[in-house]
Amino acid sequence: MKVLLVNPPRYNGVSVIREERCEVTERYSVLEPYSLLQIASLLRNDNHNVSFIDLNGLDMGYDTLKDKIERTKPDAVLFRFTPTTFDHDMKTASIAKELNSDIHTGGLCWTLHTLGSQVMNEAPDLDAYITDEYEVASPALINSWENGDNISPGAITKHGYGGNVEAIKDYDSLPLPAYDLLPNLDPYFVTAPAGQPFSILYTSKGCPFKCSFCTVAGTPLKMKSSQKIIEELRYLKEHYSLRTASFFDETFTFNRKRTEEVCRLLKEENLDIKWYCNTRAHLVDKELLEMMRSAGCRGVSFGIESGSQRILDSVGKNIKIDEAKNAIKWAKEAKIKTFCSFILGLPGENWESVSETMRFVKETLPTSAQFNVAVPYPGTKLYEDTYGKDVPNTDFRKLYQDSAVTGTAELTPDDLNNAREAAYRALYTSGRWWGSNLKHVITEPSDLDLAFRYALKIVNNFVFHKMKDAH
Ligand code: SF4
Repeated sequence: MKVLLVNPPRYNGVSVIREERCEVTERYSVLEPYSLLQIASLLRNDNHNVSFIDLNGLDMGYDTLKDKIERTKPDAVLFRFTPTTFDHDMKTASIAKELNSDIHTGGLCWTLHTLGSQVMNEAPDLDAYITDEYEVASPALINSWENGDNISPGAITKHGYGGNVEAIKDYDSLPLPAYDLLPNLDPYFVTAPAGQPFSILYTSKGCPFKCSFCTVAGTPLKMKSSQKIIEELRYLKEHYSLRTASFFDETFTFNRKRTEEVCRLLKEENLDIKWYCNTRAHLVDKELLEMMRSAGCRGVSFGIESGSQRILDSVGKNIKIDEAKNAIKWAKEAKIKTFCSFILGLPGENWESVSETMRFVKETLPTSAQFNVAVPYPGTKLYEDTYGKDVPNTDFRKLYQDSAVTGTAELTPDDLNNAREAAYRALYTSGRWWGSNLKHVITEPSDLDLAFRYALKIVNNFVFHKMKDAH
């Protein structure tokens, strides 16, 4: 089949991240659509003819998509969408159908995977919604269409759900994502355009932990070997002169031995790549962080969520406040930047626990902090606790962490939005916080460019955009 993979355009000029657990508008980051590149290489393995366009990355609109469809004449169009950009992203399907009603249209969006029927009802031009693990369900869908089947495993079509697919067992068996479909890595950066060429990579996917607010809680963990990771980085270095990588995994350091091996190989290969990762606070220690730093790690994102042990326990975070404090301290000692995210409005939140979170931030002084409001995303325990199991229709277009749709027993949604703004104001007006970051830049002059751009972002974001569509 001739398949066109599409990352839809930006939303009202704001960049959109359309990657599994991270399906949001994000004003200050432009990420390459890694999952689409992965699907492209899988489809090529099945002998499909694949073309691709990243309209978000290139900052191009739907006119470009029309041209692309007219030129490539695909049999099928696959694209990603997000809850808050739903109607905008669905124009991809509508345009394909307008140009040729025989084109099959398929969409991917992890956040809404438990609302499959609602998605199909609200998207008349969508022939199929891929709800299961895309590495398996996407090739299955294209092969089903090629064979003339009406249903397909891991997807909902107008004829029904095709049944579960099992997550891929051997993550190393995935072919290298089809990076060759990208003209270059120029458009891509995270938070501020520094350290380019930049790329995200998944070295693992899935998370066995059970945080009640998280859309990927309890999903099967699949890991690439250290050799496979190095192979991908080497490719990116050789073909795109990669300078900075962000391992997009939920918990990069889940397997300590693998992390050690990656560090060892990175040093042996001397690829000279600076890298960033996400992980949980209890999955690092001082020695590991020092090893990571010596292998090029320059930043770690920790989902701290709250400075209140009571709140952490209520959402099953399974982390102690002292573990979180130690992780930040050790990372800073190892000269690794710390990006910490917090959620305001988790069950049991009150003004006292909000203050505990602020005290935590003031005490630990992470390099940066993201304050989100709690969002009851479909499929999470938080959603069930908030709405019950069978909600007829969810207004998923409003689900974004910059504006509360629910409160807690003691705080209203407005309280939470105010708390979020106050938290950012407290951080950004803290002389100790600026001083701590200034100290870092003095000892790490290579971060000067990034720090300068980041400071500009803060002013722009806080003063002009009030932290909307961003963190
Ligand atoms: S550790 Fe918790 S918040 Fe992080 S990805 Fe896993 S379930 Fe989600």
